[in-house]
Amino acid sequence: MTTTDSAPRAEGVRWDLSPLCASADDCRQRLATALADCHAFEDRYRGVIAGMDGAELAGALAELARIENELGRLHSYASLRESVDVTDAENQDLNGLMERSMVEAANALRFFELEWLELEDALAEQLANAPEVADDRHHLLSARRFRRHTLSEPEERMLAERSPAAASAWQTLFGRITSTLEAEFDSGDGVEPHTIDRLLACVRNPNRDVRFRALDTLYKALGPNAPTLAHCYDTLVGDRLAMDRLRNYDDPMDPTHLRNEVPGPAVEAMMSAVEAHYGLAQRWFRAKARLMGLDRLHLADQYAPLGEARQVLFPEARGIIDASFRAFSPSIGDIAEGFFADERIDAEPRAGKRGGAFCASVAQDAKPFMLMNYTDRMDDVMTLAHELGHGMHFTLSAQKQTALSFHTGLALAEVPSTFAEIIAFDHLMATEQDEATRTALVCERVEGSFATVFRQTVLARYEQDAYRLRSEGTTLTDDRLSAIWVERNAAYYGDAVELPDGYGLGWSYIPHFISTRFYTYAYVFAHLVTLALYARYREDGDAFTARYLDFLAAGGSAAPADLLLPLGVDLADPACWDPGFHEMERMVLRAEAMAGA
Ligand SMILES: [Zn+2]
Repeated sequence: MTTTDSAPRAEGVRWDLSPLCASADDCRQRLATALADCHAFEDRYRGVIAGMDGAELAGALAELARIENELGRLHSYASLRESVDVTDAENQDLNGLMERSMVEAANALRFFELEWLELEDALAEQLANAPEVADDRHHLLSARRFRRHTLSEPEERMLAERSPAAASAWQTLFGRITSTLEAEFDSGDGVEPHTIDRLLACVRNPNRDVRFRALDTLYKALGPNAPTLAHCYDTLVGDRLAMDRLRNYDDPMDPTHLRNEVPGPAVEAMMSAVEAHYGLAQRWFRAKARLMGLDRLHLADQYAPLGEARQVLFPEARGIIDASFRAFSPSIGDIAEGFFADERIDAEPRAGKRGGAFCASVAQDAKPFMLMNYTDRMDDVMTLAHELGHGMHFTLSAQKQTALSFHTGLALAEVPSTFAEIIAFDHLMATEQDEATRTALVCERVEGSFATVFRQTVLARYEQDAYRLRSEGTTLTDDRLSAIWVERNAAYYGDAVELPDGYGLGWSYIPHFISTRFYTYAYVFAHLVTLALYARYREDGDAFTARYLDFLAAGGSAAPADLLLPLGVDLADPACWDPGFHEMERMVLRAEAMAGA
């Protein structure tokens, strides 16, 4: 590491991408070769899949894996370069070329999956069970779950050609309105134009007046746009329901369940269990009101800070990660240390670098990289733990799985990251001496859990209402959407939280509804599963650790239900969610005790 021990804001902590590619030119050359390989693959295998035996199929899958690895590596190289310098013209050129090339590659390779879907069940099953393809058995069989819902190739092509001008155009319009909307606001540095995101960030401002005015300003700015935003949503929901009829889906949630590989009844049981625990959240809201000296909490106080965490410089954060991960498992500690030692972390905030944080898996035969913007806050330590949690998952599954089977689906993708946060959190609670920092950590933990488990369930319930109304022939106007939004939220907040007048427009800027229906329940799923797993770890100790590492190494080689069963989580049992809520109750009690002390 090039950083000095006392440098603030992770100065000098930048990644070294040279193990992925030597240069932009090298990337371009290798891309041309990879594209030629895609076309060669098509020439060789188009029209022959139905006549293959196990060994031949294994040969095709190995070649496909090799191509996927190379494309993943090159694509990551280009996008990682751009993510730390979005204004650089060469980065933009390289990414433009990459986007076009990835479309070309996907077009060349698409036949393989379509031909695989066209096989009769008996033949596909026989081929997938061949010992030569055992490593990709689940990948092969699970790809066929969409078979019943896939149309003929000309029909699929027509839909794909039309999509950008039809459904996608409404998503683009929504994105344009919500990303360019600005309102004049003074959050402490004088009156300035504020975007939606910036206004929303004000709900964590310590100044109550700023929080109130920010929400008020947000709803006033959204008001004139609400009819158009509602129309975007109404059209998209109508389009999706029409697609469901064409593709033989009975329930509007089914395409999401199928993609997540999670059974619908398990999701319904989970959401019902969450609703049965709304009282736990209301209990915390009442406690928070008392702590703030209020009769009743206002929505604008929901995320008001209850303690101020101290600063943590990057080298200390590295030490916290090392000590906490290593206490869980030395091998996990080694994987995290590899990110620092190999310079696979870009943590220094700087001009031209994108915001937020992510961990890129890159490719099964490469090592993952992570990006964040480290600003010396305790939150940043949690973000570091979160992204390294993804990193340990990618690293371990890449060791055991093929390029086609190492990615887990959405339902479980956030489990290792959330688990890693809890590991770091528990370590901090055992070692941190500063009382205000401990309070801030615990309260943020509780409120973060609520924002994930409870709020995302409210969002999914709201969507269910919207799809039901639309399928009954009711147009989704802004007033109607506001009515169901307030109704679902009122059930959650009860009389514990006062909702502001404009809150009916809370639905209008949420991108998940527009981009992917019922996306949000996967957050709930992963969070509750993680809490249940952590409860197991506390009970079983090292015996659990071994099973957990196996789970990480299994990647996407089985369905979530099968991956979770050895860890003691049986999705077929509605009671499987109880341990997650017990963990949340523990946290609330702890937060009440600490914040009150
Ligand atoms: Zn994540």
